[in-house]
Amino acid sequence: MLRAIGLLGGTFDPIHIGHLRIAIECRERLGLNEVKLLLAAIPPLKRSPNVGPQQRAAMVELATAQVPGLTLDTRELQRQGVSYTVETLALIRNEIDADTALVWIMGTDSLEQLDRWHRWQDLLDFVNIAVLQRPGWQGVSHGPVAQWLAQHLCPPGQLCSQPSGGIALLEQPPLAISSTAVRAALRERKNLQFLLPAPVIEYISDNDLYTH
Ligand code: ATP
Repeated sequence: MLRAIGLLGGTFDPIHIGHLRIAIECRERLGLNEVKLLLAAIPPLKRSPNVGPQQRAAMVELATAQVPGLTLDTRELQRQGVSYTVETLALIRNEIDADTALVWIMGTDSLEQLDRWHRWQDLLDFVNIAVLQRPGWQGVSHGPVAQWLAQHLCPPGQLCSQPSGGIALLEQPPLAISSTAVRAALRERKNLQFLLPAPVIEYISDNDLYTH
């Protein structure tokens, strides 16, 4: 098996246990050496984040501090403007050994709208992709993403034996949590214990985030 690095991109507005569990599960199940959480400064397809990049980064730091193999990657914060995943992945691919396997990790909600991503068909030139099933997913049955999936689908075990080019579906125990639901609960001042890491809850409360 090659050295293998997982990459989980997200807005992390805020980070929650859904993000952390998929990173941990992929690391264990695929045998990844590490998983980098790539924070999107300005996501191209979403409304602007509620909280600025520095505070979202601080929350990811707090959430990953005690988790072996998980690290925050802030390279997209250094670039001006919108962060296109394909450009970030090309840069990372360029920086590391050609025979290191890269595995981009995403949930099925991201897969469903993949054809809206900038140069989405080039992604597999730089990475493999692991797709984690999110609750309520029915599968992609037609359209360009379904065709592309059929062409590149491989067993999960193959993702770490090639530098790039394969896509695999991974089942995981469903965690029906999203940052959207977390923000709504915070606005209503609900108790979020065990849905977010305790230091992240404390940070949100100390900085009075997501309540307005
Ligand atoms: P929002 O509700 O604001 O859209 P989100 O909870 O989907 O946010 P993102 O930061 O946009 O979080 O997600 C980053 C990545 O993590 C995406 O690929 C997304 O599919 C995946 N993800 C987030 N939550 C889960 C979950 N509960 N199960 C599986 N994948 C998840």
